[in-house]
Amino acid sequence: MGALVRQALEKAGITVITGTEVDGLDHGPGGQVSAACLGGAEHAVDVVAVAVGVRPRVGLATGAGLPVGAHGGLVPDDTQRLADGVWAAGDCCEIWDRLLGQHWFTPLATHATKAGRVAGTNLGGGSARFAGSVGTAITRTGDADVARTGLLPTWAAKAGLDADVVTIDSTTTAGYMPQARPMTVQVVGERGTGRLLGGQLVGGSGTGKRVDILAMALWAGLTVGDVAAADLAYAPPFSSTLDPVQVACRKLAERL
Ligand SMILES: Cc1cc2nc3c(=O)[nH]c(=O)nc-3n(C[C@H](O)[C@H](O)[C@H](O)COP(=O)(O)OP(=O)(O)OC[C@H]3O[C@@H](n4cnc5c(N)ncnc54)[C@H](O)[C@@H]3O)c2cc1C
Repeated sequence: MGALVRQALEKAGITVITGTEVDGLDHGPGGQVSAACLGGAEHAVDVVAVAVGVRPRVGLATGAGLPVGAHGGLVPDDTQRLADGVWAAGDCCEIWDRLLGQHWFTPLATHATKAGRVAGTNLGGGSARFAGSVGTAITRTGDADVARTGLLPTWAAKAGLDADVVTIDSTTTAGYMPQARPMTVQVVGERGTGRLLGGQLVGGSGTGKRVDILAMALWAGLTVGDVAAADLAYAPPFSSTLDPVQVACRKLAERL
């Protein structure tokens, strides 16, 4: 799936260099960055974007004796309460992962807005609980939608689950429609139970939000067979007769 993302970047005219550390950045006479130095070569640049992730700044909390989780974030309970009179939500917090059964650090707006609402409701005297995450995320790279939910095959193995995986190539609409674009779907399921464990999608416009089919199925604890059998909408401008997500799940159900 990563190779498809790389292809999308290269199609957008971007040279992709991986497995190489950036040694430094050079600047011109005006002080403006002019080159990135890596692998013994200098690459002329107009702009440098440094994307190295984010980390909660928890000094205030630890100074007050509040605990920090295994991934470096605050760990409130499911009402977003950290201690008596102390509440937390958003990027400073770890999130309960419903599949792994443990807290995980996934700093995303989708969690921040829900957890913030829960904290606010409880602060105001109401009663609300944050239900956690199944690890759903989406982005666009060049002209490719890129989305994932649940466990990657490697994560499932690490979590001690007996997982199998199916990857299929299909199209975003019925293949004969002029707007059809390539789309690849990967689904992961558990041997024995047939339980859906995760999925990834990369493809043209219309691919990405299909991840929500898998996210809802994970949320409800469905099997890949359940997803393959579900009553999803079909007409040629939107999908093949059986949606590619269902085709992938059907093939995986047969193997499991
Ligand atoms: C470029 C970018 C793109 C993103 N795209 C997505 C996306 O597509 N989907 C998604 O789900 N998430 C996305 N995110 C992540 C998302 O923005 C964050 O998860 C979300 O904003 C976290 O909300 P928050 O309220 O915890 O923190 P923030 O939104 O960062 O809000 C914290 C606020 O606290 C203020 N603040 C900081 N220190 C102090 C202080 N000492 N006193 C008072 N105020 C202070 C800050 O100024 C800020 O306004 C993206 C993030 C970035 C940077």
